Amino acid sequence: MGASESELLIRQHLIDPEVCIRCNTCEETCPIDAITHDDRNYVVDPNICNGCNACVPPCPTGSIDHWRIIPKVAAYSVDDQLTWDELPPQQEIDGEAALPELSNDAVQQNAATSMSSAMAPRSAAQPHLHLHDVKNPLTATIAGNFRLTEADAESDIRHIVLDFGNQVFPVLEGQSIGIIPPGVDDSGKPHYMRLYSVASPRDGERQGHNNLSLTVKRVIADHEGQAIRGVASNYLCDLNKGDKVLVTGPYGSNFLMPNHAGSNLLMICTGTGAAPMRAMTEYRRRLADQGNPVPGKLMLFFGARAPQELPYFGPLRKLPESFITSHLAFSRVPGEPRTYVQDKLREQSKAVAQLLRSDTYIYICGLRGMEAGVMAALREICDASGFDWTFLHPNMVAEGRFHVETY
Ligand code: NAP
Repeated sequence: MGASESELLIRQHLIDPEVCIRCNTCEETCPIDAITHDDRNYVVDPNICNGCNACVPPCPTGSIDHWRIIPKVAAYSVDDQLTWDELPPQQEIDGEAALPELSNDAVQQNAATSMSSAMAPRSAAQPHLHLHDVKNPLTATIAGNFRLTEADAESDIRHIVLDFGNQVFPVLEGQSIGIIPPGVDDSGKPHYMRLYSVASPRDGERQGHNNLSLTVKRVIADHEGQAIRGVASNYLCDLNKGDKVLVTGPYGSNFLMPNHAGSNLLMICTGTGAAPMRAMTEYRRRLADQGNPVPGKLMLFFGARAPQELPYFGPLRKLPESFITSHLAFSRVPGEPRTYVQDKLREQSKAVAQLLRSDTYIYICGLRGMEAGVMAALREICDASGFDWTFLHPNMVAEGRFHVETY
């Protein structure tokens, strides 16, 4: 006999407010507009969510992946969830109650059309995840804070080195860490944690040392140019050597590099989205320096407003072409046409197509706005070279070879 409405259980989808970095990725990804937010929390409407999981792989922190079995009549409402500072525990459930069968159709459909790989490259090293959370953060010490952009540049982008002393905090290239800024927000609640990609390789910013680096831009305006003061970025950019900072993580189990040194990396980034590309490039550079053959090719497309705004410009130019081919796109150089990474991709159509034909992993990181242009350019490159992007892209996604991290 079927369960009555009052006995019916649902698997309610919830977002952990302690881990969420409010990046809006889930709300943008949800195909049925089940996710909404106020000025603090992102929440899932139980009346709309169909558990399709489309929002789960793109979430950079894993805060999206929480579920509670709960009687349908007692589901947490949107208004309830907007007041939460932490997730409620799983309730005791009456053994007689009935959990409806979940249809796999939506899940499979979304897996097939996902933009970015939900799995790491097969040869990637095993990442450590969630070793520290907001309730149990690690204290790191600032070992250095260096301005990367030139003095006359508009942006203040910094290379910040965090030292972990004798505490264990292993990270891989492509992973992120959380930073908890001190103090409270306008509503009197502690500032939520912010996420930054690690810019150094797995063996440390300084090789063999228990440290890592971040690439942080001091945020003084939003994407529309309106003046705002980024809480975490200004906090980090103002830290001095010896200051302490609370860290969570590591996060990220997909956006990882292949360990196989024969695999090619096609890296496409804008601004501070260069952080994971620096980590991967430096890892391969150290491998080569140690005398290990690195047959895989590195190709980088890097966009910034002007050369003086491009983080790591100097060191990048010193790397030989035999190791990496770099294509820099500048959008605001007086007297020169606005150039974006997708324009540079098109210019290098033949070389990109050649790479796409072989064992290549694509990484896209930076501004959300670049996604559409980059995808269009890759499609055109494939069309012009006689192979089908509509077929290649989902294959790369399914094989852990197509990774996107944009905010
Ligand atoms: P930015 O300086 O504002 O922009 C970098 C370049 O991208 C500029 O040349 C810009 O051109 C160009 N651009 C703008 N729209 C574009 C589009 N539709 N297609 C291609 N290029 C476009 O960049 P930013 O402030 O550093 O921002 C970087 C982004 O990376 C942020 O959203 C950040 O959250 C994200 N991110 C950062 C990290 C990290 O660890 N720090 C990690 C992952 C992602 P215009 O002259 O037109 O502006």
